Amino acid sequence: MGTTAVSPDRGVKVRATKLMIGNQWVESVSGKTFETVNPATGKPICRVSEADAADVNKAVSAARTAFESGPWPKMAAAERGRLLYKLADLLEANVEEMSRLETLDNGKPLMESRNVDLPLSIATLRYYAGWTDKIQGRTIPVAGPHICYTRLQPVGVVGQIIPWNFPLLMLAMKIGPALAAGNTVLVKPAEQTPLTALRMGEFILDAGFPSGVVNILPGFGPTAGDSIARHMDVDKVAFTGSTEVGHLIMEASAQSNLKRVTLELGGKSPNIVFADADLDQAVEGSHTALFFNQGQVCCAGSRLYVEGKCHDEFVKRSVERARKRKVGDPFDPATEQGPLIDGTQRDKVMSYIESGKIDGARLMCGGERKGGQGFFVEPTVFAGVRDEMKIAREEIFGPVMSILKFSSLDDVIHRANDTDYGLAAAVWTRDIGKAIAVTNGVRAGTVWVNCYGAFDPAAPFGGFKQSGMGREWGEYGLQQYTEVKTVTMKM
Ligand code: ADP
Repeated sequence: MGTTAVSPDRGVKVRATKLMIGNQWVESVSGKTFETVNPATGKPICRVSEADAADVNKAVSAARTAFESGPWPKMAAAERGRLLYKLADLLEANVEEMSRLETLDNGKPLMESRNVDLPLSIATLRYYAGWTDKIQGRTIPVAGPHICYTRLQPVGVVGQIIPWNFPLLMLAMKIGPALAAGNTVLVKPAEQTPLTALRMGEFILDAGFPSGVVNILPGFGPTAGDSIARHMDVDKVAFTGSTEVGHLIMEASAQSNLKRVTLELGGKSPNIVFADADLDQAVEGSHTALFFNQGQVCCAGSRLYVEGKCHDEFVKRSVERARKRKVGDPFDPATEQGPLIDGTQRDKVMSYIESGKIDGARLMCGGERKGGQGFFVEPTVFAGVRDEMKIAREEIFGPVMSILKFSSLDDVIHRANDTDYGLAAAVWTRDIGKAIAVTNGVRAGTVWVNCYGAFDPAAPFGGFKQSGMGREWGEYGLQQYTEVKTVTMKM
């Protein structure tokens, strides 16, 4: 296993640390700042201005003015597209810096920041840039002497609350469609990972977005986040994070102005391996499905159902693979797994590992913290997990694989659906009939067949049940940022 020693020189310079409101970099009204920490060392990187309700008010006012009377509402749709393309180009020109900044602030391996987060963020901005002048209504054949058509108009001022697991990518997934549709936004990055969002603010200014179209407010959930969700002049809130906070966001909307709400929340996604699958592919794919991004992925394949006939062999190979997983310095190109985001998350994961042991699951490897500094946890595999155990029911959000055994197709579909969540699922098989039965039968927003985590900005992503409301990416993701207006004209 790798070392967790981390060299102090990361070749990253932090440039933007204030709030961005109305195209200006400003201190928070309170003058408060907070620390952002390097998860690989547990040491502070720098301090960042801390937004709360007063700053949210200022940003909403800037976004409202930009939406009602700035250049933004009058701009040709293709011109909005040009700005989004330019933003994507600026991000691409600074891939190395942004990858390093993301890895420094989040702890994810540099290879993943560079090969996954950055390319997907750029592709998302370009995908939505292409949509700007293709957002069309319909003509409706109504009865009587009338012409009827629909227009898709922007919702207005949109608050966007971002999680820490994919800080830049989630930002791109939120601002891309919102700006393409002509909204103005205020973005609140997660308190653990504000740095790439702030640097994006500089690119937004460089690209030439008009004042107040994008406002960036680092701050904490219960203060800045809650003020956004409760604000009477915010027309929509888009949130990605825990199901628990998703409930709070809905409540805040209900108690204020019924702002539109879209939510992308937690998951406990079933990953189903049949004995007729290509076992090498299924082992490797299921390993990545769970351990990618330190397991801090809302759609992680965290309930791994393996058919009895291949169960023991699959467990053996999965454990061998997990033992080989290279944990350590996220800047080392060979590293596959970095630290968890913070001490709270590490402790939560450790307590799930304890609960797995107490409930009688078989700990096959890992199970301990790793290294003297930072928030590292060993790749951990439990076999003999049963559906009723806490580790099979609750979202762990860490590098803990739970393997469960199944014997029949009907049984596994029933068990896969026995959850409050419904974000994703996967099935590994060479039998097309089984693949179709699972894709039809499982209640989840995305189902992968013989692959996992295959993402594309053109393909919608989001959850059934308590995994969310609405979709991101694709045309569906764009529609969530529009209101339908019906126009009826007498002839
Ligand atoms: P996690 O538990 O994984 O940290 P959260 O759902 O708490 O995820 O956080 C996701 C995002 O939601 C972060 O930007 C966080 O600051 C924000 N947030 C947390 N609590 C609230 C809240 N009560 N209202 C609005 N936003 C919140």
